[in-house]
Order: sequence, then structure tokens, then C-alpha cells
Amino acid sequence: MTQFQFECPHCRECTTVDAGVRDLLLEGGCIACGKAVHESAFRRPVRMHQD
Ligand SMILES: [Zn+2]
Repeated sequence: MTQFQFECPHCRECTTVDAGVRDLLLEGGCIACGKAVHESAFRRPVRMHQD
């Protein structure tokens, strides 16, 4: 499953989430501070190899 590294730009909460949780955060805001988060708060998962 694809996972993303999430870092809240407001409270600096940092966690790894899957695609479903990512969508929930984009819709409902940060789980820690409740503020709206943008797609830019998520980074692509670290892969075993680079393209
Ligand atoms: Zn936050």
C-alpha cells in the first residue's frame, strides 16, 4: 500500500499515513491541531530504489 510522510505545516505533527488517511486529512484537517492541510504537507514515500 502506498504510504506518505505527513508533516503538518502548523503544528509540525509528523506521521506516516496511507492514501486513505491522507484523503481524510485533506478533507478534515490535521489530526493533531485540526487546521486545514494541503497536499504539499505530504511527501512521497521513501522507496527502496530511486527512479
Ligand atoms: Zn497540525
